[in-house]
Amino acid sequence: MAKRSGARRIGIFGGTFDPVHIGHLRGALEVAEFMALDELRLIPSAWPPHRDTPQVAASDRLAMVEQAVAGLPPLSVDDRELKRAKPSYSIDTLESLRAELAADDQLFLLLGWDAFCGLPSWHRWDALLEHCHILVLQRPDADSEASDTLRNLLAARSVSDPLALNGPSGQISFIWQTPLAVSATQIRALLASGKSVRFLVPDAVLAYIHAHGLYRASN
Ligand code: ATP
Repeated sequence: MAKRSGARRIGIFGGTFDPVHIGHLRGALEVAEFMALDELRLIPSAWPPHRDTPQVAASDRLAMVEQAVAGLPPLSVDDRELKRAKPSYSIDTLESLRAELAADDQLFLLLGWDAFCGLPSWHRWDALLEHCHILVLQRPDADSEASDTLRNLLAARSVSDPLALNGPSGQISFIWQTPLAVSATQIRALLASGKSVRFLVPDAVLAYIHAHGLYRASN
């Protein structure tokens, strides 16, 4: 095994990825480079507690993310939520990741602003910062507002420079990314109406979608 040289910096980015698209991938890559992450794991959720059931099977969503990040370090895919027979709670994912990491490794949970605003409804949300830092990603179409609870949390825990987040966990910072106003909803709608999604998803993902007949109106 390679010799450890200091704390590792690991980002995690969850989503339904139904399907994964350039908004996810470009954002993930920019954050990984800006934050000098050793690894940024995309974690497809099996049974998202806060939204509708994904349109295609978990195995297909996983395969598409695998195709998208193949040969693209530091991006990788982590399938632990698909192996669990219960809702994909982030706190469970963080606890299981922490059990595999060194105590000084830094974990960064990437969340879109909308997701961050919904945080107080998450299972055991107040324990999340015990395991990770939170990086809030600004999205072009974000129009949610933070509650008073979250404003208080930000007042207590936020750091203006994301590169100044220190220690393994416990702080929050904001990060900007190139706006790409693309969503999986738009991609599913285009495919259902027989239109092209070329350049909205990587070519390998497009090939997978066509080879498996995904997202057609009859699915
Ligand atoms: P849907 O349209 O089905 O709701 P989505 O495109 O928003 O899907 P998700 O899998 O729900 O994709 O998103 C996973 C994460 O990726 C979320 O944190 C979300 O905010 C972020 N994300 C999605 N699209 C973009 C984008 N265009 N730019 C930046 N971040 C994005």
